Amino acid sequence: MLKIHCPECKKSFLWTDDMPTKGKCLNTDCEANYDIHSALKQNIDRLAVVAEKKILLCPSCGEEISSHFTICRNCRHVVLDTMFIKESHLFMGVCILLIVLSLILKYLVN
Ligand SMILES: [Zn+2]
Ligand SMILES: [Zn+2]
Repeated sequence: MLKIHCPECKKSFLWTDDMPTKGKCLNTDCEANYDIHSALKQNIDRLAVVAEKKILLCPSCGEEISSHFTICRNCRHVVLDTMFIKESHLFMGVCILLIVLSLILKYLVN
């Protein structure tokens, strides 16, 4: 099954395997002919455009994100390239880091 966009009537219809590879547009008042091979090629071209845009996806929930280092608007995870951390975990991590740093400082001063 393949979705064909008719260039004449600007409507789309579904082509199924039991239909001829070339034929008349399925929309009743359209006289245009479709060709399954060129339609297939158009679909592939369209996919290539999407791939070329390099859309970034959240590694946690799969939603679109704006950059490699960001907080996902959908699941609120902190995205670090292909990894993700829960926002609360990051906060805890910073707290632990501060405690460790203050202990080291204390040790150094004494
Ligand atoms: Zn048509
Ligand atoms: Zn997400």
